Amino acid sequence: MKASETVLEIDLKALEHNYRYLASKVNSQVKKLAVIKAFAYGSDSVALAKRLEKLEVDYFAVAYTKEGVALRDGGVTKPILVLHPQSAHFQEIIDRCLTPSIYSDFVLTHFIASAEANNQQHYPIHLKLNTGLNRLGFDPDEAPLIIEKLQQTSSIKVDGIFSHLAASEDPEEKEFTTSQINTFKKVSEDIIAGIGYQPLKHLCNTSGILNYPEAHFDMVRTGIGLYGYGNSDEIDKQLIPVGTLKTIISQIHHIKEGESVGYNRKFKAEKDTKTATLPLGHADGINRIYGKQKTNVSINGHLAPIIGNVCMDMIMIDISGINCKEGDEVILFGKEKSAEEFAHNAGTISYELITSVSQRVKRKIIE
Ligand SMILES: *Cc1c(COP(=O)(O)O)cnc(C)c1O
Repeated sequence: MKASETVLEIDLKALEHNYRYLASKVNSQVKKLAVIKAFAYGSDSVALAKRLEKLEVDYFAVAYTKEGVALRDGGVTKPILVLHPQSAHFQEIIDRCLTPSIYSDFVLTHFIASAEANNQQHYPIHLKLNTGLNRLGFDPDEAPLIIEKLQQTSSIKVDGIFSHLAASEDPEEKEFTTSQINTFKKVSEDIIAGIGYQPLKHLCNTSGILNYPEAHFDMVRTGIGLYGYGNSDEIDKQLIPVGTLKTIISQIHHIKEGESVGYNRKFKAEKDTKTATLPLGHADGINRIYGKQKTNVSINGHLAPIIGNVCMDMIMIDISGINCKEGDEVILFGKEKSAEEFAHNAGTISYELITSVSQRVKRKIIE
């Protein structure tokens, strides 16, 4: 359907297709965790979670506690791993049955205190190990300390042990990734021997699922693939973008050679030029990096560059030679036009582009 305003269309059929594709790449007994942090990569976390629950996803993950609370408020009942909780939110985590990632001695100590204060027995947590990304996680040499702390309390139980790969999409980093896999195996086995029971082990994100089948362990975590992007042209062909960002032409101008367009006059017409003004800008997630002819939008099947500086609420495009009129639909990225390409042209990645679509943009769910 043609857009009549700025809208992010969210196609749940595409989500289902991508989920089934990714699920087909792992053994059926391997559990599937859907990463739906950051509003499900800029779309709609509750709507997507509900559909994914129907598809029998086993687990969800978000980055922060409030994202998990929003899912519970929306009626999501499956386990939700909070990847990066802060101790200020531990009470809320316990109140809303969220599963914290425990990534440091500080967090472990404080979470045990919260669980004990709430008279919890065997409250599920996941242990996060740092195997080389050097972002979050216990270092391998902290394993004895983790074991000792866990042996001293029955208030928590380890439901999962996981780590995160630094470069799973990059074949040139295969050696490094293999070392991460081996470190993960070794440290998780040490911890399992120490605690005496088997939690879920998980390591792979989307590119890990596709490139390292030997490292699927008990569960895989997929984010970007669910939304239709696979960090390679080959995989992108198999996936369908879930979100399509559309808008319309607000106004058309015919400007003369030598005239300029937009703030600071960053576009100067070298010849008579037809321009269109669109009702979205950097406050909607089309950041200034996309301006000054770095990337294109699509109108009636023709590409039109974004010209001049992106404004807060508007962008201008060059539509010279394109047959179009005010009110016509404009596609920024999505099903017919790759977000990866839109982002790449301006020097960034699909992850950043799609998660930047701001809450001002209307979301429209398509079944
Ligand atoms: C965001 C995230 C993922 C998802 O990664 P994709 O590349 O989007 O599949 C998985 N695991 C962790 C720890 C993450 O932070």
